[in-house]
Formats: sequence, structure tokens, C-alpha cells
Amino acid sequence: MEHSEVIVVGGGVVGTTMACALGTAGITVTLVEAHAPVAAAAQRDPRMFAITRASERIFRSLQAWDAMTAQEHCAFTDMEVWDSTANGCLHFDCAELAEPCLGYIFEPCVLTAALGQRLRQLPSVQVLQPAHCQSLQVEQECARVTLQDGRVLQASLLVAADGAGSPLRNMLGIPVQTEDYHQTSLVALVQTARAHRHTAWQRFLPGGPLAFLPLADGWCAIVWTLPAAEASRVQALDAAAFQDELAAAFEWRLGAIVDCGPRAAWPLRCQHAEHYVTERAALIGDAAHVIHPLAGQGVNLGLLDAAALAEVICAARARGRDPGTLRNLRRFERWRRGDNLLMMSAMTGINRLFSNANPALGRLRSSSLDLVNRAAPLRNLLMRHAMGLEGDLPALARPVVPDNASA
Ligand SMILES: Cc1cc2nc3c(=O)[nH]c(=O)nc-3n(C[C@H](O)[C@H](O)[C@H](O)COP(=O)(O)OP(=O)(O)OC[C@H]3O[C@@H](n4cnc5c(N)ncnc54)[C@H](O)[C@@H]3O)c2cc1C
Repeated sequence: MEHSEVIVVGGGVVGTTMACALGTAGITVTLVEAHAPVAAAAQRDPRMFAITRASERIFRSLQAWDAMTAQEHCAFTDMEVWDSTANGCLHFDCAELAEPCLGYIFEPCVLTAALGQRLRQLPSVQVLQPAHCQSLQVEQECARVTLQDGRVLQASLLVAADGAGSPLRNMLGIPVQTEDYHQTSLVALVQTARAHRHTAWQRFLPGGPLAFLPLADGWCAIVWTLPAAEASRVQALDAAAFQDELAAAFEWRLGAIVDCGPRAAWPLRCQHAEHYVTERAALIGDAAHVIHPLAGQGVNLGLLDAAALAEVICAARARGRDPGTLRNLRRFERWRRGDNLLMMSAMTGINRLFSNANPALGRLRSSSLDLVNRAAPLRNLLMRHAMGLEGDLPALARPVVPDNASA
């Protein structure tokens, strides 16, 4: 039997950040991840993550940011949003917010590799990888996890960061509310004839949004959301036909698509756990909530969960209290569940409002986009929310150094 104060199951971006936050505070933690670390792949991941300024602050606080930004990444300074069936258009510019950029585009393995590197410097952290959590047992004083190889781990708190399908959430008997969007996101890396100008682009079409995210080498990462059947058809197109349809769907804003990497497809659903905590266990990241990717908020919400839970654990410990009690964990749930629900509802609402061809809704969209675009204070407030700079932020996500120190 191996003991630590906290066991984190799931070594994606969210679980690794959780382990890093606890290890930085000197808490003994065991991180269990089923897959071996991803070596720098010959081929880049076609799915890139948009990372908010709040997440940047968390990574800076955990001293992982410099290792991340030493690898390929792209800061975006502008955002352009428009609708295919109405005239409205929205433009966001970081200069108006007196910020050096609006956010960053990273390949997921760059984030996990930098966090993994930081974990190795933290003496109170043990990483078991590859190691598969097979079963768990929750008792009044502790949680016990059995790995596939027979090892047994024990801690006063178990954190499930094991993703949307979360086996741990099922083992804990926590129900989830699920809504199928009947949409699929196609992702790919594409080269466009015209420069992306460090802008994140999003066009809303009746079938779903189409985003072009800027990359450091001048290429773009696309997230093309379509009705499920239409996505299967588009995914099966040959390269030339796919590139033509993509350029047309994007109104040739960046000219023709001159090259395209492999495509991958992600069926979309919205999912929310009915509660985030039980005695001795807490859910964070996609294990707790799965959100529509249209605003690139999924990982970012999970990182705020990790930072908030770490803060609640540290505060209990500082007062000599047991951090794994349901009473203590409810502080975390009260803090994060409402914020996550608000963001999830906003994304579902925007998807419903924009992903249809109803002319009355088209007029509403057009006037709303124009109204927001003309009202600078409202536009800037919306953008600051999307950047994660507003709201009840955990200490790790509050500014500790000037934001423009090493962007
Ligand atoms: C098309 C698309 C685009 C997106 N774009 C963005 C974006 O731009 N920005 C953004 O913020 N979000 C984005 N998201 C959302 C983002 O992908 C998720 O929110 C994020 O991956 C969740 O991270 P996580 O660490 O919670 O879970 P995961 O990344 O799913 O990690 C879970 C980990 O748990 C491990 N695991 C599972 N079971 C076990 C077990 N029994 N034992 C041990 N380990 C286990 C798995 O191996 C895995 O590594 C996008 C999503 C989609 C579909």
C-alpha cells in the first residue's frame, strides 16, 4: 500500500496542472496516467488548444510557462467573428484592452510536456505512467485506488481528472446530464494563400461555426463544426475537394487553401456532472463538464477547477483540517459549478442562435453582433470574460507578474 495526501487520476492538461499545483504547495501527491508520455510526434496534433490569459497566469504561477513558450506556440492579437446569413460582424483587438494579446494557440502535448518537466522538479510528487486505475474504494477516512498491475494507493482525497468518459465518475456513482449537439467538429492543419495576421477567425454557418486559429509557422488550425451526417461526407472528400469546400465555407477570407494535413473528427455533446464532489473525491475538467468547443473554453475551465481545488485543499490544510471531507470539498463545488454552468449555457445558447437558417434569428444575430461591435465597453467586457480575466478567480490565476513580462 502506497500513501500520499492526494491521488490524481488522469494526466491530461487538467490533471497534470492539478498535481503541479499541489506539488508546488508541498503536498504529497500521486498522479496516475494510463498512457505513456507523448514524445514529440513526427506529425503535429491536428487539434490545437486556444489558451486564455487566465490559464497563462496559472502556468506562470506554477513555473511551467517558460518551458511551454520555449516550444512552438502562437499568440493571437485579434479576433474576427461574423455570420454567414446576416451582416453583423465583431472585431476584438488586444490593443483596446491594453493587453499584449488575447490568448495563445498551443499543441496539447507542448502543455503536458512542460507540466511533466515541472512535476519532475517537485519532490512531493510521484508520477505513475503508464498506470491504469482499475477500481476504487471510498471509506470514511480515505480513498483507495487499485491499479491494473495490482498496486494499491491510498490518500485522504482522490481527484478524478480522467476526461469526458471518466471511469472514476462512474465508479463513484455520480450521474451526468448529457445533451447531444448532433454536430461533429472536423479538425486539421491548413496552409492558406493569405497570411492569418495573428487573428483567430470564426464564421458562423447554419450547420455550425468554422474557426481558423493562427499557428507560428503561418499555417492555421481549423475547427469546422457541421451536422453529424454532413461532417462524414466532408471528411470523406479527397484533398482537393475538401480544400475547395473549406475555402468556400470560409468565404475565401484567407484566400485558397493551398495545403492540408490529416483530418480528425470529434462528435460533440454537452455534459455536466450532477455534483462535483463526494466524501473523499472531487471531479475536475472534462470529468465534471464537457462544453461546446466554439469558444475554446474546455481546458481553460478545467484549469480554473484545478487552481480552485488546490486552493481549497491548501486552505484546509493550513487550518489543520482534513481537506478530503465532503464539507470542505463543497467549497470547491460552490465556487466552480455555477461559473462552469454559466459558460456552458452561454455556449449552448450561442450555438443554438447561430447554427440555424431561420431568417428571424438571422436578423436578431445581425443586430446583436452590430450592437456589441459598436458598444466598446460591452465588447471589451465580453472579451475580458472570454480571456478569463473577470470573475472570482483562484489565486493562481490572478496576476503575479506583469502580464506582458514574457509573452
Ligand atoms: C474539436 C475540439 C476542440 C477543442 N478546442 C479547445 C480549445 O481550443 N481550448 C480549450 O480550452 N479546450 C478545447 N477543447 C476541449 C478540450 O479538448 C477538453 O476540455 C480537454 O481535453 C479536457 O482535458 P482533461 O485533462 O480534463 O481530460 P483529457 O484530456 O481527456 O485527459 C484525461 C486523461 O485521463 C486518463 N485516464 C482516463 N481513464 C484513466 C484511468 N482509468 N486510469 C488512468 N488514467 C486515465 C486519459 O488517458 C487521459 O490522459 C476542444 C475540444 C474539442 C472536441
